[in-house]
Amino acid sequence: DFINQYANHPHYKAPHGNRLHAKSWQTEAALRMLLNNLDAEVAENPDELVVYGGTGQAARNRQSLEQIIKTLLKLEEDQSLLVQSGKPVGVVRTHTEAPRVLIANSNLVPKWATWEHFEALKSRGLMMYGQMTAGSWIYIGSQGILQGTYETFAECGKQHFGGSLRHKLVVSAGLGGMGGAQPLAATIAGGTFLGADIDPERIKKRLETRYIDKMTYDYEEAKRWALEAKEKGENISIGLVSDAGDMLEKLIQDGIVPEVLTDQTSAHDPLHGYIPHGLSLAEAAELRKKDPEGYVVRSKKSMARHVGFMLELQKRGSKTFDYGNNIREFAKEGGEPNAFDFKGFVPEYIRPLFCEGKGPFRWAALSGDPEDIYTTDRALIEAFPENKHLINWLENAKDKIAFQGLPCRICWLGMGEREKAGLIFNELVRTGKVSAPIVIGRDHLDCGSVASPNRETEGMLDGSDAVSDWPLLNLMSNTSGGATWVSFHHGGGVGMGYSQHAGMVVLADGTDRAERCLQRVLHNDPAMGVFRHADAGYGIAQNYAEKFDLKLK
Ligand code: NAD
Repeated sequence: DFINQYANHPHYKAPHGNRLHAKSWQTEAALRMLLNNLDAEVAENPDELVVYGGTGQAARNRQSLEQIIKTLLKLEEDQSLLVQSGKPVGVVRTHTEAPRVLIANSNLVPKWATWEHFEALKSRGLMMYGQMTAGSWIYIGSQGILQGTYETFAECGKQHFGGSLRHKLVVSAGLGGMGGAQPLAATIAGGTFLGADIDPERIKKRLETRYIDKMTYDYEEAKRWALEAKEKGENISIGLVSDAGDMLEKLIQDGIVPEVLTDQTSAHDPLHGYIPHGLSLAEAAELRKKDPEGYVVRSKKSMARHVGFMLELQKRGSKTFDYGNNIREFAKEGGEPNAFDFKGFVPEYIRPLFCEGKGPFRWAALSGDPEDIYTTDRALIEAFPENKHLINWLENAKDKIAFQGLPCRICWLGMGEREKAGLIFNELVRTGKVSAPIVIGRDHLDCGSVASPNRETEGMLDGSDAVSDWPLLNLMSNTSGGATWVSFHHGGGVGMGYSQHAGMVVLADGTDRAERCLQRVLHNDPAMGVFRHADAGYGIAQNYAEKFDLKLK
């Protein structure tokens, strides 16, 4: 039956083709994207239902997963499934244009919103960590973050190095599910990349998917490759098996100052994400089990050491920024008082895009046929001939990106553009130019969907960094607008207590119903970014509000 064929532990695979297993494409889409999140080509650890970002899961446990699948297979078009931290808990009566799945993950009352309380609940089977797109079934592998990372590196090149990272060395660490996009993004932006990961398997996975070019266990070899490539202006990427802090310490000793410096180890989770300095992976696993409190203390101390080296390189001239893993917070707790002396990537490079309602718009071909994505690529190139940046991205993406799981594409589109793209995709389905429906979604890291004072909303003009009314309003407008599934999570990206965020996915199945939903959702969702930033006093957003008639009269 369906579970044996597609969810046979730990071999998960979304069905391909245009035959329905569920009762409608809305529920079929949710089913396929849930299974796609767990596909071994996509997920970091499908065995544990972990998709990415430390311990971000798609479902609470095997039993919950099977129950979600069974319910989705039977769900009618006037019903919606409720998922509470990865466990299906009920079906409610709704209507055809309402979301088919309503998801709440990892939410805790603010005073209890700590890792300690969360872990206590998790150990009793009462919770799971949903990260951002793990528990909301729209993770698409490393490509998902690739364009955002490319936008960041390209903007950094534009701001500091006359428009290109050629002859520049970009150094980082953490080559996991998301961090693994850094080497490819840096090389597409023209730079030479050197990154450390303590786990060789993670670097091997990046080699297999062509996100990284070379790998070594030897620092001297990595250094030689990196310096030679930088000298020649070659945009190649190198993965070094090493502790992040150790690599930076050696670079400092050797007097090497990378032009760009950041980090994407899973620092947001000091217990399961970050490996303390001086421990092998096996030793870390043992200590985690035997003495979790001692582990966390050691982990935070190591982050303080790691960030200390980043601060030293910043002093020596590296353009240094936090890449959204909350490492500054835990480094500060671990004894580095100046951890916040470098800024996060959002205020440095991304906020102007958020003001235009831009963010990580993405879509997946439910057919499983790569040709469908190439058709959407061509349609967008035709629809946005003036957008050279977008065209450059789409052309590069077609050549350089190996699909993982269902073929998909990401590109940062803003107010007006997302709605236009969504309606084009619906027409492609309606006219049979693609072979099955397309789902459209985005990361929770978006312009109007998240409150995260150490990341997306760091340093807001009016000081409203911690106000989480905004993601709640985003959730409510996407629910009432008719997204196909919606989600509200806590703790994604930066860990428990530090963020609240909303997600949405909307289906283009070629119907009039989809057209109405797409028109509402893909207008309202980026508009939330414009509202949020205009309200905080950003001029670009206020101009966009004017341009798109979003101002209250
Ligand atoms: P992941 O858990 O898949 O990968 C983390 C990697 O860090 C692993 O490969 C691990 O081996 C490595 N690592 C841990 N400790 C290390 C150490 N001391 N030295 C060297 N390597 C070490 O996580 P991911 O999905 O790649 O996400 C990484 C981080 O980035 C998370 O904190 C996540 O929340 C954050 N993130 C940021 C953004 C963004 O847009 N900036 C988006 C998503 C995730």
